[in-house]
Amino acid sequence: MSGNEARVQAVHQITNRELMPPKAPERLEKIWAENVFNLSKMQASLPKSVFKSIKKTITTGEKLDPSIADAVATAMRDWATAKGALYYAHVFYPMTNLTAEKHDGFISVQGDGSVISEFSGKVLVQGEPDGSSFPNGGIRDTFEARGYTGWDVTSPAYIMETDNGSTLCIPTVFVSWTGEALDKKVPLLRSIAAMDKTANKVLKLLGHKDVAHVNSSCGAEQEYFLIDANFASQRPDLMLAGRTLFGKAPAKGQEFDDHYFGAIPERVQVFMQDVEETLYKLGIPAKTRHNEVAPGQFEIAPYFEAANVASDHQQMIMTVLRHTAKKHGFACLLHEKPFAGINGSGKHVNWSVGNGTQGNLLDPGDSPHENAQFLVFCGAVIRGVHKYGPLMRARSQRQAMTTDSGLTKRPLRLCLCI
Ligand SMILES: [Mg+2]
Repeated sequence: MSGNEARVQAVHQITNRELMPPKAPERLEKIWAENVFNLSKMQASLPKSVFKSIKKTITTGEKLDPSIADAVATAMRDWATAKGALYYAHVFYPMTNLTAEKHDGFISVQGDGSVISEFSGKVLVQGEPDGSSFPNGGIRDTFEARGYTGWDVTSPAYIMETDNGSTLCIPTVFVSWTGEALDKKVPLLRSIAAMDKTANKVLKLLGHKDVAHVNSSCGAEQEYFLIDANFASQRPDLMLAGRTLFGKAPAKGQEFDDHYFGAIPERVQVFMQDVEETLYKLGIPAKTRHNEVAPGQFEIAPYFEAANVASDHQQMIMTVLRHTAKKHGFACLLHEKPFAGINGSGKHVNWSVGNGTQGNLLDPGDSPHENAQFLVFCGAVIRGVHKYGPLMRARSQRQAMTTDSGLTKRPLRLCLCI
């Protein structure tokens, strides 16, 4: 079949496609975080003293008491298996810009050959995926490879439902046997801890006696393209690289102003509602959706959260977008520049710092010039970005290089939320 015939056939299939009917919307309160092993579910299933201890670890980032791990693991397994999960996965983020998972069953074979369902604190806290083929999948000396995943208690475990079944997902850090970070979560957790320590010190110098744990918060906005699967499957470049490598500019580009913030196409809106329902069940506060500026481009933005949780949620949003797109006959492109000549998909992060006692530390108040606290924190952030700008841009540039061979150079964009 010639390329033209294939295109005509694709247009025919798209024209005669029956719209996937929109799901009846569920009440938000009913489905919110139903697939997340959050604090309220822990409180309901754990002894009081264990809950108190783990809550302290989650809210302050303090070290986990190893003696409570077994009790938490059992409660987590009971909750997950009751919801149909037969496997658990330590989810981690090696330096590939992708999410990695190693699935293990709850099954444990006994001496007499019988099996029981088992999940101990030891396997909850630490896993050992072979790290030999990270970050690029090339051939390695396996004797040099040893990667460990460690449970990140500050980010809640959740159940990822797909058509192939449900899996209990445990967010983890990924480190080498010598303790070096092999992912981006470890540096993020270290930066959150450093910010808490230093901001606490500054607030005390400013005269505050009562200073709560200082948390960094983030809200990442995700732009994406939706391409009908009939068209996408005819493009090996889109299928393999997630971006175009050849072709000519379309007849209609970004010259028109009818798409940006225009009415969302019916088929896309059904897709978005499906995505949002999955995200709500995962406790991800998807807040905003709209058409982006390029044809076929859209955006989703969650409400801000603690930086560590927001970062995990961002990875989950990308996974859910891609899975759901397939169900709706779309290919979802998350590449930052999939087409020449029109806008790429940005993903900027809104960042801030604050705590429960002093509030938003970047809040200028009514008289910013007399607000010493605001001036100190604002000045410190500007100084930090100036001093470590090359390092931050290097990380940003590295990401661009790993995803599109360095052809796209996106500037670092950081928005302070005040
Ligand atoms: Mg946007």
